[in-house]
Amino acid sequence: MNTKKNLFILTGAGVSKESGIKTFREKDGLWENYKIEDVCTVEAFIKDPNLVNNFYNERRSSIIDQKILPNEAHYQLAKLEKKWKGDFILVTQNIDNLHEQAGSIKILHMHGSLDKCFCMNCGAEYKFNFDLSTEFVCKKCNVKGKVRVDIVWFGEQPKYLDKIYKYLDRTDVFLSIGTSNNVYPAAGFIDYLKHQKRKIDFYEFNIEKTSKSFLFTKSFIGPASETLKKLVDST
Ligand SMILES: [Zn+2]
Repeated sequence: MNTKKNLFILTGAGVSKESGIKTFREKDGLWENYKIEDVCTVEAFIKDPNLVNNFYNERRSSIIDQKILPNEAHYQLAKLEKKWKGDFILVTQNIDNLHEQAGSIKILHMHGSLDKCFCMNCGAEYKFNFDLSTEFVCKKCNVKGKVRVDIVWFGEQPKYLDKIYKYLDRTDVFLSIGTSNNVYPAAGFIDYLKHQKRKIDFYEFNIEKTSKSFLFTKSFIGPASETLKKLVDST
């Protein structure tokens, strides 16, 4: 790849999965045996904040306890960022910080992050390095029990969309890694770019071909930890 071009990278669950992180399964709508609507909506948080808080406390501690580490795909993307001379942005749907641990800097967590929480009453942000609880009193507004994980729940807008579309408007190369291209957001981003009728290269890195593979200039099939290395080495 020509490193002077503008590069947009989208990563999804497949990249975290290679590090052993279990994510929400579309098949049965379960995430670690919880029904997704019980832990991923504002309504659920209002109805049973302890259940929701405990769920995210568990997610946070399981990542630490199991010593989950970045894999080669994360490291290759950090390496690519260092090599790149044009615009570079890594947009991830993942809520872990494995990209950052591997050295990525220009990154946007469009679905939020397990590293942060915020007060629903006043918007104050906190580092999520303690157990969330209904007893927690916001230091800014003094209201109790309104601090929640900073993850985009169902019915909420993905983050940084303005920035993301500005990057899309300028990108010359679009990489989709470990994400199903059939569903939002990848499908939406690809449609948006295809309508621009500019010369854009589309590369996908997936464990298997998808029904949208035909939209890509090139498909790299296999574990991203392996396929990315080849591309980055040759860049
Ligand atoms: Zn507050």
